[in-house]
Amino acid sequence: MNTFTGIFLAALVLSYGIQFWLAMRQKSYVLQHREQVPTAFQDRVSLSAHQKAADYTIEKSKLGDIDSVVGMVFLLALTLGGGISLVFDFWSTFDLSPLMASLLSMASIFLLMTVIEIPFSLYQTFVIEEKYGFNKSKLPQFVKDQLMSMGLTLVIGLPILALILWVMDSIGGLWWLYAWAIIMGFSLLMSWLFPTLIAPLFNKFEPMQEGSLKQRIQGLLERCGFNSQGIFIMDGSRRSGHGNAYFTGLGNNKRIVFFDTLVNSLDEEELEAVLAHELGHFKCKHTIKMLVASSVMTLISFAVLGWLITQDWFFDGLGVSTHSNAAALLLFMLVSPVFTTFMQPISAYFQRKFEFEADDFATRNAQGSKMISGLVKLYEENASTLTPDPLYSAFHYSHPPAAIRIAHIEEKMQSA
Ligand SMILES: [Zn+2]
Repeated sequence: MNTFTGIFLAALVLSYGIQFWLAMRQKSYVLQHREQVPTAFQDRVSLSAHQKAADYTIEKSKLGDIDSVVGMVFLLALTLGGGISLVFDFWSTFDLSPLMASLLSMASIFLLMTVIEIPFSLYQTFVIEEKYGFNKSKLPQFVKDQLMSMGLTLVIGLPILALILWVMDSIGGLWWLYAWAIIMGFSLLMSWLFPTLIAPLFNKFEPMQEGSLKQRIQGLLERCGFNSQGIFIMDGSRRSGHGNAYFTGLGNNKRIVFFDTLVNSLDEEELEAVLAHELGHFKCKHTIKMLVASSVMTLISFAVLGWLITQDWFFDGLGVSTHSNAAALLLFMLVSPVFTTFMQPISAYFQRKFEFEADDFATRNAQGSKMISGLVKLYEENASTLTPDPLYSAFHYSHPPAAIRIAHIEEKMQSA
């Protein structure tokens, strides 16, 4: 324990304090506005749908609070409580190479973290989602999904982790630059492979059938000069009633994916508008900007870690007696969120700016009124609250609240 212990604890109290305070504000704001549909939505959303969204939001938030408490206790147990040292000491008693011992130590802790989260996702899926009519999966599907994602993490994650640990141990002072290049190359490769290799393990993707919807969408793609490897419908309804649409892949491997749930609930013009919004993110270069921003952040993180690894106070302050590269990497991954929470509003700010730009694009290239009616349906069907606390949403929401977004689209329609 040293001065850094105090700094860490202060940041921990402050960041969790802010999170709990915001969540509390959100719950009470939603509850206060539960009795009346906001004026702008009165002829579009029923009171019962509005109240369902309020109750759903509050229940999820309560579960999130408990999850946060457990996460905080676990973080303290691993660091100041000596958990990390215990696990590293355990694996060092076996006759293993240092790299293998480090790898197994880190894997054990990640496994433990995954296992702790399972009761929360069980409760989320089979109690909350079930209660609000969203859950469509059964326990065997859930177990299969969990095992599959653990298996994938093992098969893909462990070799990359081993490579990073090897680079840390063998390259010398500038290891962090190499590690950064590996991570960036790996994540680009994964984004490229994801639509064709990984996503199909979890869902079925059928090419969209010929017809008026496909023609409409192809017309939009041509108008916007967009190349894609196809338009697909995903069987999202296999697990959940929530609907969405997204772009996936990189370069010539780009795909457009609609959840079947979305296709069933929006009309063709609304689907076109929703897709035009997604297209806007590409056309306004948001994807590239986010990629550059995240690669710069990753580089800074690795550079900071490159320095911390040489500082004994970093290990001692966080209660870790094993001064190894692997322990430093693990500590950094666990502890840095405590210090970076404060940057959340900055990234949320840029995300919201991008959402407005994409809405502008959609208003120019499809019908603004259909964008609005599609959005209202999406909010209603996903039971997303129309009345979030302004401070909570400024901190957490990647999308502007519905009322603000719709007012913005209406304004653009009038000025067009
Ligand atoms: Zn968007």
